[in-house]
Amino acid sequence: MKTYALIVDVEKCENCNNCFLSCKDEHCGNDWPGYAAPQPPHGHRWMNIKRRERGTFPMIDAAYRPTPCMHCDDPPCLAAAEHDAVVKRDDGIVLILPERARGQRGLAASCPYGAIWWNEELQLPQKCTFCAHLLDGGWQQPRCVQSCPTGALSLFTGDSEQLQNIVVDEGLQVLPVGSGAHPRPRVYYKNLYRYDRCFIGGTVARMREGVEECADGVSVVLRQGRDLLAEAVTDEFGDFRFDNLVRDSGDYLVEIVVGDTIAAARPFSLGVSGSLGTIMLE
Ligand code: SF4
Ligand code: SF4
Repeated sequence: MKTYALIVDVEKCENCNNCFLSCKDEHCGNDWPGYAAPQPPHGHRWMNIKRRERGTFPMIDAAYRPTPCMHCDDPPCLAAAEHDAVVKRDDGIVLILPERARGQRGLAASCPYGAIWWNEELQLPQKCTFCAHLLDGGWQQPRCVQSCPTGALSLFTGDSEQLQNIVVDEGLQVLPVGSGAHPRPRVYYKNLYRYDRCFIGGTVARMREGVEECADGVSVVLRQGRDLLAEAVTDEFGDFRFDNLVRDSGDYLVEIVVGDTIAAARPFSLGVSGSLGTIMLE
């Protein structure tokens, strides 16, 4: 059976907002009976791009996580709806039916992902529909996917077994919710560590003829206890970085290796992303 899911590659998202704007273009002022009433021009973010900065000067990056309705397979919004106002289609898409949902303000609070928005003028709870009106009309992609210039968004179309194979092969993750609930979302994330994990970095320098210079091409290893966790090589600025580390995950050791010798070592306790500063080689 054909089902839909959305795959989001956090590494590829550049926060251009094309997906957000194309959603607005498709839904603001447009009534799609049986799918969605018009989205108001302000206040709603059916495609909500969450942003997070990591690190401190001089080693900082930013990550963006596009976050629409997850079209859960076990949706709390469906359980909370009155008059069958929420439907779960066989293809996986979850819709809030405007003709049945009027006045049900409480639906917004039922979504653990904060993906339902309240339309005060129409007295309606509203959210992303995966552009089901277009898919049903023969489109291959919703507007957000079609407008993404980097390939950060892709629509999966296939059966459940094919989807699970992709999830395993590509190491996809879903967003967790608190309270131990498992709504079984159908939006999957690749490289989610860029958003929800930490990095530690630093710069290696050396003195040459009395002048401090960047030490490029130097081996750096990351250890925790007796385990060698990762290896890196400094770039042309002498910088190195280890990513995908768990916040507040204890004590580590960075070693700078030149030939067979440990030229320098820096123990540290990892809290959040940051830099160890400049490590001088003797
Ligand atoms: S993300 Fe929220 S609105 Fe979307 S299906 Fe799940 S519970 Fe419902
Ligand atoms: S269109 Fe693509 S790259 Fe641009 S913000 Fe959306 S997901 Fe990110």
